Amino acid sequence: MSGDEKNNGVHKPATRLVEAGRRKQWTSTPGQKGGVVNPPVWRSSTHLYEDTADLAKGRPNADGHFFYGRRGGPTQWALADALTGLEPGADGTELFPSGVAAIACTLMALLAPGDELLFTDNAYEPSRNMALGMLERFNISARAFDPLDPDSFAAAISENTKVVLLESPGSLTMEVCDIPALTAIARDKGVISVIDNTWASPLGFPALERGCDVSIMSLTKHVGGHSDLMMGSVSAAKPLIMRVRKHAQYMGQVVSPDDAALALRGLRTMKLRLDQTTSSAFEICKWLESRPEVSAVLCPMLPGAPGHDLWQRDFSGGCGLFSFIFNDANKQSRAAFIDALHLFGIGFSWGGYESLIIPVDPGPIRDHNAWPPGIDSGCGLGVRLAIGLEDTSDLTNDLARGFAAMGET
Ligand SMILES: *Cc1c(COP(=O)(O)O)cnc(C)c1O
Repeated sequence: MSGDEKNNGVHKPATRLVEAGRRKQWTSTPGQKGGVVNPPVWRSSTHLYEDTADLAKGRPNADGHFFYGRRGGPTQWALADALTGLEPGADGTELFPSGVAAIACTLMALLAPGDELLFTDNAYEPSRNMALGMLERFNISARAFDPLDPDSFAAAISENTKVVLLESPGSLTMEVCDIPALTAIARDKGVISVIDNTWASPLGFPALERGCDVSIMSLTKHVGGHSDLMMGSVSAAKPLIMRVRKHAQYMGQVVSPDDAALALRGLRTMKLRLDQTTSSAFEICKWLESRPEVSAVLCPMLPGAPGHDLWQRDFSGGCGLFSFIFNDANKQSRAAFIDALHLFGIGFSWGGYESLIIPVDPGPIRDHNAWPPGIDSGCGLGVRLAIGLEDTSDLTNDLARGFAAMGET
């Protein structure tokens, strides 16, 4: 599943999204001149060998060679190859049935009993639960660090620290941290930097170029893009990707070719969707900032938001996911706001074509700051919005309806 290095870095991202994963051997039959546009869906568990000599040759990495269905086939390889091509510096990509499975398998591959994991305090909640729940059973300790304080991160690293799990912007509170600084500290101390790069994707944040060693994405979000599939990916250079691949094989991780084809379809329009939702989110953030009901808008693209300067320095794009905090609300009036919305579905996940909302209360899942320091955290009750592809004036009208409903509680 190694990358097509011919294309890696030669063309701009929009072009690479079109070319990605369309190797001739996956889009045509041997001896045929032309081919089809998309790698077809190869449903198969079993590869038939020509003879015992062919069998004896072996297929050590199943990289572009059939071995057995659990190691994928051309449809999954095409997707993995496409993702490798999008992440400058990666030599390969491993696919997983969900983003959480990708994170879990990476941590299991890189940590051993007696080791310690440091994870960013604003990590995705299931990552935090995994670090504090599952890893402990294997005698791997885990501690949260304040992502906005590189000095305390450096001080937190012990001789047992082997991996740091980063995420920027952080889940729910969306603060951007200084990834180049944190990964330089980690590298200096021999610690592997793993990033959950789901928010920006490599289109907005080339994680390996910014100092990370391993880049993970929940493909369920932007790559799928249509709220109809679950998948995760891990991209890295050698030898790390080989370590992750080996553990993915130990643990029997495989994705279906049908889902891989859907993810490839989503990938083709990912930049268009991200560009649109980024500009829609920016417009809606500006509108929210002008509303008296809002104390702070937490969106990296917004001047004045926590980490905006770092976002401008390190990122080349955003997405439609951000949060805001109410000035004056209680749980009942926040619920009235959410329940009054017609266009925002109440649901987890994001990155689909439709707008979503969930209430946000980060306090209980943080060891350091509930909300980013230096902002007006108002009444301390927030919501997270995922902006879809609807017209922004319809969305702001919907939000205005929500604010009006708060006054009626
Ligand atoms: C959704 C999400 C995940 C998990 O992905 P699944 O595909 O739902 O398992 C991981 N990290 C972040 C930041 C997410 O938002």
